[in-house]
Amino acid sequence: MPDLLTRMRALYEATPLLVGLYDPTDRLRYANPALRATFGVPDGELPTWEELVRRSHAAGTGIIIKADDFETWLASAKSRRGKMRFRSFETDLRDGRWLLVNETMDADGWMLTVGVEVTSFRVDTRDIRQARDHALRAAHTDELTGVANRRFAIHRANEMMAPHGPGGALCVIDLDNFKHVNDRFGHQTGDDLLRAYCALMVAAIGRADCFGRVGGEEFMLVLPQTDLADAERRVCDLLARVRASRPLPALPDFIYTFSAGLTFTPPGDTFSEAYGRADRALYLAKLAGRDRVMLG
Ligand code: GH3
Ligand code: MG
Ligand code: MG
Repeated sequence: MPDLLTRMRALYEATPLLVGLYDPTDRLRYANPALRATFGVPDGELPTWEELVRRSHAAGTGIIIKADDFETWLASAKSRRGKMRFRSFETDLRDGRWLLVNETMDADGWMLTVGVEVTSFRVDTRDIRQARDHALRAAHTDELTGVANRRFAIHRANEMMAPHGPGGALCVIDLDNFKHVNDRFGHQTGDDLLRAYCALMVAAIGRADCFGRVGGEEFMLVLPQTDLADAERRVCDLLARVRASRPLPALPDFIYTFSAGLTFTPPGDTFSEAYGRADRALYLAKLAGRDRVMLG
């Protein structure tokens, strides 16, 4: 008699359901043949989720991307991916099939995805279901940049500091001398810079982290399951990445920086107190000359 795991695996290999298991770095660690066939992943290859969607997008297979620009879509999708214990949504594939995708996370950041074909189900109410998914997404998303909005970032921060949550660190961020960018190059360029900054941040942070736009050129970074020293290292790395970036193709010499206030948030902390500490630290970072992180 094969053991349960062997039996389960054999059935996963045979099922038309699309089954994938991603590790906390968002790399596929198991993909069944149905998932491999749909996204064109050769046997034995285990790409990250980002590599997988990039490849299938370039090959004209996989999911239909409803956005003008693939990079914006990717930044937005990544900012929502793996942030909730369970998530379910419908998606349409380039080959005409419809999938209902279910994502389940464990406490260590591993994610099981199961897709089931629903092409023939309730076509009449599909528009309503997609509109609902879209509204849910919009309620969590900042319109200009596609990253998490204030509401979602605060929700994630509250989850992190809940009495039985993992704890972690909260970072409040403000771009430096942003008025100057608007005054010198115009509001449109200011908006372009906000989008470039968000794309850089989302690409650089981990899947369990949450980066959100709180308003204007102010942002929040939620870093669960990390201590203050590690969080500070990570924010310093982000400062360096932004310093080295050239975000505006039309202005190749343009550079910019941000300032940050960082605070440790143990389980049982409250959002308003943590935010207050981080915001005071941000103020000190500005006073001290900007382009730095201060602890609060
Ligand atoms: P500091 O280093 O002290 O933060 O200087 P600052 O110029 O960045 O000052 P502050 O943070 O007070 O200014 C924020 C400016 O950001 C004011 C506003 O014109 C601009 N801003 C806010 N939201 C947006 C937006 O959505 N798009 C653009 N282009 N500009 C925005
Ligand atoms: Mg500001
Ligand atoms: Mg500012």
